[in-house]
Amino acid sequence: MKGKDRKQEKSIFTKSIHAGEDRARYADSITTPIVQSSTYTFKDSREIEAYTKNAKKRYEYGRYGNPTEKVAERRLAELDGAEEALMFSSGMMAITTTILALVQSGDHIVITDDCYGRTLEFCRTYLKRFGIECTIVPFGDYEAFDASIKKNTRFIFSESPTNPYLNVFDMVKFKQIGEKHKVITIIDSTFATPYNQRPLEYGIDLVIHSGTKYLGGHNDILAGVLLGKKELVNKVRELHKSMGGVIDAHCCYLLLRGLKTFPLRVKTQNENALKIAEYLENHPKIERAYYPFLKSHAHYNIARTQMKGGGGVVTFTIKGDLDAAKRFMDSLEMIYIAPSLGGVETLITHPATVTYYRYTREQRYELGIVDNLFRLAVGIEDVEDIIADLERGFAKI
Ligand SMILES: *Cc1c(COP(=O)(O)O)cnc(C)c1O
Repeated sequence: MKGKDRKQEKSIFTKSIHAGEDRARYADSITTPIVQSSTYTFKDSREIEAYTKNAKKRYEYGRYGNPTEKVAERRLAELDGAEEALMFSSGMMAITTTILALVQSGDHIVITDDCYGRTLEFCRTYLKRFGIECTIVPFGDYEAFDASIKKNTRFIFSESPTNPYLNVFDMVKFKQIGEKHKVITIIDSTFATPYNQRPLEYGIDLVIHSGTKYLGGHNDILAGVLLGKKELVNKVRELHKSMGGVIDAHCCYLLLRGLKTFPLRVKTQNENALKIAEYLENHPKIERAYYPFLKSHAHYNIARTQMKGGGGVVTFTIKGDLDAAKRFMDSLEMIYIAPSLGGVETLITHPATVTYYRYTREQRYELGIVDNLFRLAVGIEDVEDIIADLERGFAKI
């Protein structure tokens, strides 16, 4: 199409505000209403028939979807350039339901070792109970990844960037491996967000986000989303209707509200995080800083090619032992000590004592979770104030 007919692709800043919204809304409200209803009424038998026999699009029962959710799904689909989106009550619900919809007993799956702890746990422990075999491949070893695929492999799964070292998976290679073996490719793109990375444009089949993080952006909801081609996403939708991990309307409203400022937030988080990473890299109290857009990062080149920004997470090791780490943490005044990431507030986590507290020191060290490691989830405060708070902590090391 040419000239006037050509529909211009809108910017992500515009889409985050308008995409998915109906132009006409209940009572002419500017915001999408929260449809707080567990069931939907039929006027008469004719309306039932129109729905059951003639597939009229409407709502029936809350577990099968609600109007506020539909708007959120349409907006998220546009942000990632997906044909279809499916929302869940949490990121883990999106991951587990998707996996269960794609496999059956006797199947095999491949996942990289640097994935979210609960994702690995689900694949390693629970799937095994149902006769589904899982190979865990070292992140970044593309040959091992390729070699691990068998005749009964259903899908290959990775995160990018990963937690906490922010390793970046080469999407072109991921797609090539998937295509060569005709297996479904899945990327958990939570850390990147659709602002920084759009795996579907690389031909990846399915993308998953924990909406709890940057998409919601205010540390006040749990949400998950699956994105991809209609046929595949709707296959998962069928199981979702039975599993029942649905997201409620109020949560969808908060997500829609959070999404309006999503690109503004992530743009600021990218800028803040890069400045902080550069500051940390040159700091006398820091052993090492990890950030995909630092030249010293192992995957700097891939990150620069496939990501718009390095994201809001910076990981670093301090020069000091466990006691020094605790002194550093305890003297922060603005930065909150809390798990999670993606919200407007800057948060810090000490993986050794929080996420991995059940592990022995030896087990932790094998996974790179050393005593002096911190993960900073950068917020949208003034970067100088974040740095001043860190400086306060470093003075105590
Ligand atoms: C947080 C997170 C999840 C899990 O999402 P929830 O919303 O907490 O269930 C999965 N993957 C990644 C990369 C995450 O950061």
